[in-house]
Amino acid sequence: MSALDTNIEKLNGFLGRFRETGIRNRIAGEDRDGSAGVFQSVSPVDKSVICDVAHGTADDIDAAAKAAYAAFAEWRDMPATQRRRILLNVADAIEARAEEIALCECWDTGQTLRFMSKAALRGAENFRYFADQVIQARDGQHLKSPTLMNLTTRVPIGPVGVITPWNTPFMLSTWKIAPALAAGCTVVHKPAEDSPLTARLLVEIAEQAGLPKGVLNTVNGFGPDAGKALCEHALIKAIAFVGESRTGSLIVKQGADTHKRNHLELGGKNPVVVFDDADLERALDAVIFMIYSINGERCTSSSRLLVQDTIKEDFEARLVERVNNIKVGHPLDPETEIGPLVTEEHYNKVTSYFDIAKEDGATVAAGGVTVGDAGYFVRPTLFTNATNQMRIAREEIFGPVLTSIPFSTEDEALEIANDTPYGLTGYVWTNDLTRALRFTDRLEAGMIWVNSENVRHLPTPFGGVKASGIGRDGGDWSFEFYMEQKHIGFATGQHDIMQLGK
Ligand code: NAD
Repeated sequence: MSALDTNIEKLNGFLGRFRETGIRNRIAGEDRDGSAGVFQSVSPVDKSVICDVAHGTADDIDAAAKAAYAAFAEWRDMPATQRRRILLNVADAIEARAEEIALCECWDTGQTLRFMSKAALRGAENFRYFADQVIQARDGQHLKSPTLMNLTTRVPIGPVGVITPWNTPFMLSTWKIAPALAAGCTVVHKPAEDSPLTARLLVEIAEQAGLPKGVLNTVNGFGPDAGKALCEHALIKAIAFVGESRTGSLIVKQGADTHKRNHLELGGKNPVVVFDDADLERALDAVIFMIYSINGERCTSSSRLLVQDTIKEDFEARLVERVNNIKVGHPLDPETEIGPLVTEEHYNKVTSYFDIAKEDGATVAAGGVTVGDAGYFVRPTLFTNATNQMRIAREEIFGPVLTSIPFSTEDEALEIANDTPYGLTGYVWTNDLTRALRFTDRLEAGMIWVNSENVRHLPTPFGGVKASGIGRDGGDWSFEFYMEQKHIGFATGQHDIMQLGK
């Protein structure tokens, strides 16, 4: 039996229960039907229906928000050591079911096993990391003034809403939910309608690991009804959102009347800038990895290659050779490097750029074609002879599609890199230290790596500028979002109080 056959057999074992009962909402520790019936989850691998999913709307969000509100006081007041222990148990339980999570995620989203098995473990790491921050989460400062002993302390903001996208949904959900729970908040999670499987596994795992009922609630449904209702709900104090930039704008508008605090992690059109003095072998590996891993469906992907004209010809030729070698196939085959795109709608969007590129005058140097019609497969694609004004250089394609743009000077590279509405990540390849310092100082991005692909270190701030987002995750930055700062001033003596009306 091949590894692929073994994985498919295991997957079928894991999917059996979903096929039988569908995915129901989880509210206050109970399974509930969606008030609008069901919708269906479809696998992008073969377009087959995976299972029914509860179709939640405003009524279900209301029930979940009330459950999160009811559970808040107990969770907030639970001794930190006990909350930490529960979150560590969740981490252990995720690890124990990592294979199930990874296989279901692949089938639901088209992501490949080689990346999703790591993403599942990363989810456990997120819980473990934030569990270890619980003890000091409430700590504040002591700021003495001449008349007052000023203390600050942090308190959890209250029940929060978490709205997540379909790309690496399990990992991203843990990225939001773990710090929210560690801060002492309760959560209503609205996962992406296109990838509901692993959100269900997460809430189940968390409850089995000891998370009290109602602390994490999951409502499936669509953005314009369930998602909107979550943003508008008065009991929900903040929305942690990951998704498209234009949805981010809606999140802010929808939450305005209830004065929501919003954390927005949005889209990107990130540059990777390769200077001719760089280690070109490593640069080539990183350029390929950062756009063709995870099906190119990653916000931090380097979708614009800015390559110095002195090395352009050779670098692009080597790129074409490697891109043409990338293995597209079944996501559960351990050899596969790129699986199918997540949905028909997304496939249509990504493939539309194959014609757009030609109409705009770019060259399709590799790919630009679909693969079979069993699922939503495309060949990894490289556009060359592009300018930064073309749509392929300005719009987030969110697939395995790279646009290469030449530059001659450092100033020109910087101008092109910054000439975008987005500002999530940037990647710079040079062995000139002074140039790296100068360039990164002026590059408009929330996160920059020099001579490296994206290597995430959990205590560092994660987030973007411009249309790529507002706010930061990671380390203590997460607690800044999920907690309120409180100031308390104690008089140290009998200072003069202005006496009005005396
Ligand atoms: P999307 O914005 O379409 O959907 C994301 C979530 O928002 C889904 O759960 C959806 O149901 C919900 N939603 C849609 N409309 C809503 C509304 N009016 N109110 C409330 N919720 C609503 O995004 P997507 O297509 O699922 O994900 C891909 C996008 O996510 C890309 O733009 C990508 O760059 C971005 N992303 C960003 C980061 C980051 O950290 N910056 C990480 C991953 C993905």
